[in-house]
Amino acid sequence: MNTQVADTVVAGQQRRKKTVVRRAAPDESQRLRRIVQWVFVALNVWIGAQFLLWVRFFERGGQGWQVSRPAGVEGWLPIAGLMNLKYFVLTGRAPTMHPAAMFLLVAFLAMSVVLKKSFCGWLCPVGTASETLWKLGRKVFGRNWQVPRWLDPELRGLKYLLLLFFVSVIAWMPAEALRDFMIGPYGTIADVKMLNFFRDIGWVGIAVIGWLVLLSMFVQNFWCRYLCPYGALMGLVSLLSPVKIRRDAEACIDCGKCRQACPSHLKVDQLVQIRSAECTSCMACVASCPVENALQLALPPRKAAEPADRWRARVIRPRAAVAVLAVIFFGLILFARMSGHWQTRVPQHVYMLLVPNANEVSHPM
Ligand code: SF4
Ligand code: SF4
Repeated sequence: MNTQVADTVVAGQQRRKKTVVRRAAPDESQRLRRIVQWVFVALNVWIGAQFLLWVRFFERGGQGWQVSRPAGVEGWLPIAGLMNLKYFVLTGRAPTMHPAAMFLLVAFLAMSVVLKKSFCGWLCPVGTASETLWKLGRKVFGRNWQVPRWLDPELRGLKYLLLLFFVSVIAWMPAEALRDFMIGPYGTIADVKMLNFFRDIGWVGIAVIGWLVLLSMFVQNFWCRYLCPYGALMGLVSLLSPVKIRRDAEACIDCGKCRQACPSHLKVDQLVQIRSAECTSCMACVASCPVENALQLALPPRKAAEPADRWRARVIRPRAAVAVLAVIFFGLILFARMSGHWQTRVPQHVYMLLVPNANEVSHPM
């Protein structure tokens, strides 16, 4: 039951009396988000373990326990996903090599269109690791730090530059070149090479990752905010989303809690809607808001007699957000499976030749 508390509230510059309706029940978005995040981490660990077993089978010359290759590993091949997507757009034909990379990319892009950068805020295992690190840093050091305001926009531009680099490399490739790259030796075992990068990581790689871990403990979402081109792509696409964090200025008591809670440092308490490409739909702001219905993830308001009813009916509750993400994710996987475009089909003898010699296979360009 809602508790009606008549308060005198200082609202920005204007002092006015407001009836404040305190939140009746704690918001469940963060609990649900943590569950989804860690389920996705577990899924990726399982995929990674199965893929390692699959690779070891070929490295042992076909000895030992043979498992099937998990197509989900292609979610870690975003460039292959982009190349395949362009190939599909140009030819209308589904790619034969790493098709799951394309379907997963499409699923994550669809999530961005529907629910802003929700892939980053709800699913991405790197995002989950990043969030865990800044929370750990806050526990250890008592706080997180912010990059100086004059430097922050410049650093944020880095991820867009990286995205521009990858997109422009792919942009000039015609369909035949994309197909030849993907079905060539390097494209065929791009996933094995990625695994080997981490298995044979040198001191330089360890130092770079170590620095990123350390910086992520000091600065919230350092990698995602400044360096991740995949997140940059999701952010740009998310600008199309009709769903946004929306603030009801009438109900808001200007407490500023939402702004403090936002890991993307957005001025949630000053805006009526958050359009920013940095918003991950994490709903931390919504969870922190003490006022019923003052801040919501919602579709655009519609005409209604009562101002308060304008967008209340169009609110996306956390459970609905999870359901939407699940429908998009599993729906596209199901579609790809049923249409026969989920698994990469390469003859076993080709893998037998390429996988053990993956480190000798060089980039064709
Ligand atoms: S505005 Fe809210 S939903 Fe968007 S990133 Fe900030 S805390 Fe998350
Ligand atoms: S948390 Fe933000 S939206 Fe909610 S009352 Fe405070 S300032 Fe307003």
